[in-house]
Amino acid sequence: MISLLPPPSARVGRIILPWSRQISYSSTFARHPSPSAHKWSHPPSSTTIADDEVASLASKPLHALSLADLVKHGRPPLSTDALFSSANFTLSLLPIRLAHRIQALRNLPFIVVSNPNISKIYNNYLHSLSTLLPYKEKTISSLEDEIKFTSVLADLVETHSHTIPTLARGFLECRKYINPIEVTRFLDEHLRARIGTRLIAEQHIALHVSSQPHQDPKSSYHEENSQSSYIGVIDTALQPASIINSCGNFVSEICELKYGVRPTWVIDGEPGTTFAFVPVHLEYIITELLKNAFRATVESGKSHEPVIITIAAEPESPREKDRSVKNGSSATDDNPPIRPFEDPAPGVTIRIRDRGGGISPEVLPNIWSYSFTTFSDEDDLPGQGPGNGSIDALNAMSGAGGEGSSIAGLGYGLPLSRAYAEYFGGGIAVQSLYGWGCDVYLRLKGLGRPKG
Ligand code: ADP
Ligand code: MG
Repeated sequence: MISLLPPPSARVGRIILPWSRQISYSSTFARHPSPSAHKWSHPPSSTTIADDEVASLASKPLHALSLADLVKHGRPPLSTDALFSSANFTLSLLPIRLAHRIQALRNLPFIVVSNPNISKIYNNYLHSLSTLLPYKEKTISSLEDEIKFTSVLADLVETHSHTIPTLARGFLECRKYINPIEVTRFLDEHLRARIGTRLIAEQHIALHVSSQPHQDPKSSYHEENSQSSYIGVIDTALQPASIINSCGNFVSEICELKYGVRPTWVIDGEPGTTFAFVPVHLEYIITELLKNAFRATVESGKSHEPVIITIAAEPESPREKDRSVKNGSSATDDNPPIRPFEDPAPGVTIRIRDRGGGISPEVLPNIWSYSFTTFSDEDDLPGQGPGNGSIDALNAMSGAGGEGSSIAGLGYGLPLSRAYAEYFGGGIAVQSLYGWGCDVYLRLKGLGRPKG
């Protein structure tokens, strides 16, 4: 009996805030542009924010987010002052980030941003910015304000939760009007920016929730791990092997539904490795890479060949080792220790090796483009050239109410995984041995060994 589990990311890290409200944006924000839309200087919108407000925020530089930024307020439960400082840090970043996105959307050709799906995303950004503007001149210094602000953040995260399928659908509908290179450039910038924006908001929400003295057990963030290695959404002792196993189970279940076979995998190398990273990011990447490896394995008739996943811990550099020996126990009040970690690696490399036949030279140059896929639901035979899987994949995604329940077809797996990997200084490289299989190298930098 097969059960359709939600993707791992839906099962881990779900935020349930006591005050969290389900807001229906559909009636307000999903409007089609009016027939007179072509007369407007901006895309149709239902939220009004002065143009110069957006322009002034968008002219400010973006802060390049690091994992260290996210743990700098300390380990939960946070003191009230540390919680305020996290809220104010969040507030100093988000309006600027949202304004940059609004400007980028406005710079798209008008016919594209008038598409109902793209204009929905545009309106979501305007709406989210409007909910943060009342805090612009404020410093959050009371619990009441901090609670209200966290509730605004929870709404913001919820509002933007379906951005990817919505944008994907919008750009598919507009593909006649916009050059694919421009689409990839826009999506790459937009989705990378979105990774950071979500993380900033989710980090404060998670710190807030895990700092509540009498929290409802159901509302705790990462309840199974609440006393352990988490600092907000970062797991300081994340074990890639356990994420690989949970994602492997999930993806092989989708394979069983689609193809009637469950591919297997073997983990070797250093499965006990831990490092400090964002579990939901690793889950996203591993799920997508395993979908590709399993699909290729099954479609090439090699389901009996396990996918081999090798985990290698990055050795600690002699300089870091030296510093940690010198500074290991010299934390001060100003510089509290983020340790104890269980000696995590500064980074890991994960190699996913399949026997799925590799990638043909004609397909290879396209694999990093958003929307490029060789998957087609009607024709599952390999080597048939680019398929028409995108619409099927989108339908599967909206049907499941989440992301990623289809084995392939959206053509976002590789480019978006690379965006996640590169966000904190890692990367993805694909080596195809055409006629045999693929090696995919996923390199991730963790938080490493923090100072102090
Ligand atoms: P999708 O899986 O939705 O098609 P991806 O971005 O994940 O989109 O992959 C793009 C294309 O790259 C796939 O359609 C497939 O042709 C090719 N590809 C990716 N990984 C592999 C692999 N391990 N073996 C063979 N082909 C692959
Ligand atoms: Mg894929």
